[in-house]
Amino acid sequence: MAGPACIPKVSRLLGAFSNPKQVTRGFAGGVQTMTLIPGDGTGPEISASVMKIFDAAKAPVQWEERNMSAIKGPGGKWMIPPEAKESMDKNKTGLKGPLKTPIAAGHPSVNLLLRKTFDLYANVRPCVSIEGYKSPYTDVNIVTIRENTEGEYSGIEHVIVDGVVQSIKLITEEASNCIAEFAFKYARNNHHSNMTAAHKASIMRMSDGLFLQKCREVAENCKDTKFNEMYLDTVCLNVVQDLSQFDVLVMPNLYGDILSDLCAGLIGGLGVTLSGNVGANGIAIFESVHGTAPDIAGKDMANPTALLMGAVMMLRHMRMHDYAAKIATACFATIKDGKSLTKDLGGNAKCSDFTDEICCQVKDLD
Ligand code: ATP
Repeated sequence: MAGPACIPKVSRLLGAFSNPKQVTRGFAGGVQTMTLIPGDGTGPEISASVMKIFDAAKAPVQWEERNMSAIKGPGGKWMIPPEAKESMDKNKTGLKGPLKTPIAAGHPSVNLLLRKTFDLYANVRPCVSIEGYKSPYTDVNIVTIRENTEGEYSGIEHVIVDGVVQSIKLITEEASNCIAEFAFKYARNNHHSNMTAAHKASIMRMSDGLFLQKCREVAENCKDTKFNEMYLDTVCLNVVQDLSQFDVLVMPNLYGDILSDLCAGLIGGLGVTLSGNVGANGIAIFESVHGTAPDIAGKDMANPTALLMGAVMMLRHMRMHDYAAKIATACFATIKDGKSLTKDLGGNAKCSDFTDEICCQVKDLD
């Protein structure tokens, strides 16, 4: 059974997004339809696990399953399938398993395509220690917020002359302001009191300088959150040596990509790490951070925790806090119990056994 010790962790586990572009949907009761993209590799197995656990918790969620492979549209332009786009546009909220990008010349990253299609401008990755799961650090509670649309990942590259290429790091006032506003609102809504902007404005004076300037301006209007600025290299050193000084970290795209994986390592790796992506027009897509794990796909060996925690974050975003708490408590209790753990968590259980155990814990909580 879930001990009371699990419960504070649940409340720490991610809150609702506050979207500066649109007000978040509130849970007004009744069944909510959400888009489910099972994805590739282990995706369908872990998605089935999440659906089973949601059923056990009687969560009022109806899933609309959609395939998300990239297809070639008119004019040979890569796009996501129209049925998937329509479903996301309508439901606004979705859960996504890992997506595979075929290794073929010219095939775009499906994740990148998804980001562009829905203007997923913010990536939020909470890293919270899981009780009972041995990891390099204990008591981690840190959130990275990454600008997701520009910076070093703008994809603007060209050859200047033979043997010399140039890659452009694009930073705009609009996107920097948007991510800074999102980060401070997220901090306030989820009771975080400290925000650190990670940057290299000492070297990239104009680009990181603009990013930082926007963070400072937003911080001026959010005095309830303590604001610090720190060079990225110093952040990396301090995260490893004294994590307690950090709470929420906000940063441009590439820094966020790297630092969020570093933070995931603190709590035991990608197998237990989730993230949420916020887009324009109120769209939010939640996901597991790990890849498709082709080495274990179809073998009933995958750990569904990361996707399940993504689904918990989704429930909190939808203001279904009671269901979120119930499912997270049951999952943490199962891990703490240690009797039915998947191999990556140190056990011998199958994905289906682990899922069944969480379902039992969920039912016990009723
Ligand atoms: P991709 O090309 O999709 O990124 P990958 O194999 O390069 O796939 P991951 O899928 O993240 O990268 O896998 C890295 C390692 O983590 C693999 O050994 C994989 O088995 C393991 N792993 C990933 N996801 C899970 C999971 N849900 N449960 C257990 N192990 C996992």
